[in-house]
Amino acid sequence: MDDDYRNTKYCPKLSDLKEKKEKVKEAVLQEHPRAKDMHTYISDNRLCYKQQFIEVYNGKCPYCGVTLAIIGWKQFEIDHFIPKDSSRFSSKAQAGSIENLVLACYDCNRSKSSLELSEEDLYKVDPDGSDICRSFFRDEDYYIRISEDFSTDDAVNQFYKQLGLDRQIHRLDYLLMNMRGLREKLKDKPLAYTHLTEAIEMLQQKRR
Ligand SMILES: [Zn+2]
Repeated sequence: MDDDYRNTKYCPKLSDLKEKKEKVKEAVLQEHPRAKDMHTYISDNRLCYKQQFIEVYNGKCPYCGVTLAIIGWKQFEIDHFIPKDSSRFSSKAQAGSIENLVLACYDCNRSKSSLELSEEDLYKVDPDGSDICRSFFRDEDYYIRISEDFSTDDAVNQFYKQLGLDRQIHRLDYLLMNMRGLREKLKDKPLAYTHLTEAIEMLQQKRR
């Protein structure tokens, strides 16, 4: 995942997501040995698993890239990558298996809704895999775009439109992520740090 449209150069890379998710599942099972539907436990704001799940994704929506620094943790949700009411699942517990759970910001999760892609298309937009970064890229104006290889791919186009990955808000978020990353580098330059903080706060206000 070299060119990950979800990351600025300041963001740590998303890595070993599947392994890290398994660890969260183990944590659930340790306290709740009879747990079947992982979604019930991980999506519960009162329990600690959601926080752990957010950390798996470096506090970042793996669809649009927005981070915890920009939206609150309660605006993160636990998405069923393949919708929970899909005929592929024979039970709620099967739909809520850890493999099928993905972190998503409120906006992406709501927009994605019950979008279901066919088996052979899933890998193209699976946020836990590396191919999603071949399907989409970030252009120099901070727009998320469909890469040339997938420009005529129906599934990728459908996913892109339904999630609203072309929306302006994702540009603003990417700008904010860059500004925050830069600000960290300017800690020993108080004046620049203060100006940047003011600009970040102004943009955060606008975002709300
Ligand atoms: Zn998102």
